[in-house]
Amino acid sequence: MSIEKSVKAFQEAQKLIPGGVNSPVRAFASVGGIPRFISSGEGAYIVDIDGNRYVDYVQSWGPLIFGHRNEEIENAVIEAVKHGLSFGAPTEAETELASMVTNFFDSIDKVRFVSSGTEAVMSAIRLARGFTGRDDIVKFTGCYHGHSDSLLVQAGSGAATFGNPSSPGVPADFTKHTLLATYNDIESVKKCFADSKDIACVIIEPIAGNMGLVPATKEFLAELRRICDDNGALLIFDEVMSGFRASIFGAESITGVKPDMVTLGKVIGGGMPVGAFGGRAEIMAKLSPEGPVYQAGTLSGNPVAMAAGLAALKKLKAHARVMDTLHVRAARLVEGMKEMAQKHGIALQVDSRGSMFGFFFNDKPVMNFADALTSDTALFAKFHAGMLEEGYYFACSQFETGFISTATTDTMIEETIAACDRVFGRIK
Ligand SMILES: *Cc1c(COP(=O)(O)O)cnc(C)c1O
Repeated sequence: MSIEKSVKAFQEAQKLIPGGVNSPVRAFASVGGIPRFISSGEGAYIVDIDGNRYVDYVQSWGPLIFGHRNEEIENAVIEAVKHGLSFGAPTEAETELASMVTNFFDSIDKVRFVSSGTEAVMSAIRLARGFTGRDDIVKFTGCYHGHSDSLLVQAGSGAATFGNPSSPGVPADFTKHTLLATYNDIESVKKCFADSKDIACVIIEPIAGNMGLVPATKEFLAELRRICDDNGALLIFDEVMSGFRASIFGAESITGVKPDMVTLGKVIGGGMPVGAFGGRAEIMAKLSPEGPVYQAGTLSGNPVAMAAGLAALKKLKAHARVMDTLHVRAARLVEGMKEMAQKHGIALQVDSRGSMFGFFFNDKPVMNFADALTSDTALFAKFHAGMLEEGYYFACSQFETGFISTATTDTMIEETIAACDRVFGRIK
């Protein structure tokens, strides 16, 4: 496989764009390879500029649940473009998409659209603070909620629950209001509430996808709900990734736990930049211009983006059982991978939710970020490179989630498992 053109394109890009990419994970840094520059996608496949074709298990990091160039989404976008790219005035498509979102999610009475997941979460947190009149928030180590200041937080020294900035450029004054807890560990949450009487909200990925795939247990989420209620704090489910990916009715439909607010992104834009946050009417009523909490966006609710999102959600609504089919395939993929790993004496932990799948090179189950960090990332890097050579494009980090689309066939899955057999044989 020649990747000559990607190598050159990457060199050129690095001269003009920091690290050659517009989002860090794309640089392949954690697997030490050369990122493929992509020229096109078609269904389950992407093609790089050297003409190599790969089965794509990244799907733009989640959004493309119907694969690349889905005809209905593509046509909806083309039709919308013909009416104008942006107006900065309301359009009916926004209400239509809002109606779909509120129908899918029990816990969302009203919703506001933005242009990214980062914006959705940042705004939801501001609203939670404005609604409760409190400043502190609780997040879980290993959960990612976009790159806004108060969420770029890592564990403080020793047993401290108050976080330190995880990036230069974030003042410690901003992150001192962010308390850190351990995923799936209710005692760590209780400690946060013991340390602060000023907690506005707890934000969690109910099905974590940014430390690899690590779902929260039902019991843990139910306890979290109870603790938030007892302390007058809001519970926010960040479903930017899991929304319309694990279930079309949200994590609440899987876990039975209802959040006060939900943040969405990725699939909701069908491949275009859309984020959203929504929740109970009394909370959303505090949002500008109905209420005093300020939030705005020149391109929010952009008509072309709304058209793509609407087309995607309409397809999900019309094929309500599609997630079941996707889940069978995602589960078969990781079970097959696990069988092949076992055959070669490699320890692999696997899981799947809906169209999301995850695997860790680890001999113990992964319940939180500390567990995830004990995985064999060197072996993962070899696996990743080996699978690329075989024509399979997996996320370029041990700590990312994989995605299948409706264009991913059973045959592709079986062929992927067979390729894993060959690659595991070479790298063990
Ligand atoms: C991707 C993601 C975000 C950030 O969304 P962007 O559109 O990249 O800003 C936030 N939260 C979760 C759970 C995500 O997976």
